Amino acid sequence: MILEQIDKDLLAMAKESDSVLKDIYENIDDICLYNSNRILSAFIENQVSYSDFADINGYGNYDEGRDKIERIFASVLGCEDALVRPQIMSGTNALYLTLSALLKHGDTMISISGDPYDSLQEMIGLYGNSSQSLKAYGVKYEQIDLINDDFDDVTILERLKENNVRLVEIQRSRGYSHRLSLSIAKIERIIKKIREVNKDVIIMVDNCYGELVEKREPGHVGADVVVGSLMKNLGGGIATTGGYIAGKKEWIRDVAERLTAPGIGKSLGANFNLNSSFLKGIFMAPNAVKSALKTVVFASYMLEKLGYKNVSPAYDEKRTDIIQTLELGSKENLVNFTQGIQSTSPIDSFVRVLPAPMPGYPFDEVMAAGSFTQGSTIELSADAPMVEPYTSYIQGGLTFEYGKLSILLALTNMKKEE
Ligand SMILES: *Cc1c(COP(=O)(O)O)cnc(C)c1O
Repeated sequence: MILEQIDKDLLAMAKESDSVLKDIYENIDDICLYNSNRILSAFIENQVSYSDFADINGYGNYDEGRDKIERIFASVLGCEDALVRPQIMSGTNALYLTLSALLKHGDTMISISGDPYDSLQEMIGLYGNSSQSLKAYGVKYEQIDLINDDFDDVTILERLKENNVRLVEIQRSRGYSHRLSLSIAKIERIIKKIREVNKDVIIMVDNCYGELVEKREPGHVGADVVVGSLMKNLGGGIATTGGYIAGKKEWIRDVAERLTAPGIGKSLGANFNLNSSFLKGIFMAPNAVKSALKTVVFASYMLEKLGYKNVSPAYDEKRTDIIQTLELGSKENLVNFTQGIQSTSPIDSFVRVLPAPMPGYPFDEVMAAGSFTQGSTIELSADAPMVEPYTSYIQGGLTFEYGKLSILLALTNMKKEE
């Protein structure tokens, strides 16, 4: 049994943490209630019915369930419309689909949150020589870096006064970088300012890992297009594939026509009997996000108490995504911690994970991902490049209890080897 294997001092610390973290947990509960209200209301408004789970195959004509899923996502994300499909196989795919629909030859896009997420770099054409990159299609890319983990308002506004930028990209989450995530309040501030100087530019937010962490989403504060993955927050640990794009009607129409064909747009597309899991996924999502948040707050607290530096965010810091970075200081710690997470996973617990080269990554990676859905990161997962300062990126946790057990065993593993 796992509980018996956990170090007694760590168990005592965990017990203590309950009272220290009480207010933080309560705030997370409060956000969960708020977002649950929005989601349940959307189900009722859209009259979701048992018949919406029917499997429509072939061209997928008249799939009312599919249409309701998209209306619910739109309403939860504060947008006019949405495209939520199993044909969009991941967040990266959703982002590429969106950018390639909205950007034409000669257009310029600007990332205003510094380096875009790893998987966007090759699609933009920052490296590699794919004939399908945005660059190969004649799209120009510019970047404005963050200053102290916040937008560089002056440079951004100066650049956007010129009306020759088609699309602005904002990445809400830190992704695999050492910066802080961008809160909705910061995103709201910059969108307001951009709108004062430029009415036309499309403002797109990469919302991966951010959904339902706060009470508002980028769509509530003026983002035109918002993109994410169903292997993360909004899949709720139930959806087994998929991605979404939500936003203004005209942009969703364009993106849908890019996915299917002009003239078809959102009207067709079989959902492979996934309507029920997409609906159940978003229904469960506030709770999954709540559990994931409590798990990382707990991990952050424990590491800090154990004397580790650079645990980010700190346990009492405001969060806008579910990612936690833990600087573990040595190769051994990183491997032992990751093995601890893997060995308490429900799936593949017996696998001993080791650092190995990964396609597309510059360093060897060590990863724990014992998830029901392959690669799902709303389920507890940890991964790390084998490079100083040996930082583990952890996220997910479908229930806080499972999350807590895993973190405690991982810490025990690290302690044993000291
Ligand atoms: C995960 C992630 C993506 C890509 O999503 P996948 O489903 O892994 O393809 C894009 N951007 C950010 C910020 C992410 O965290």
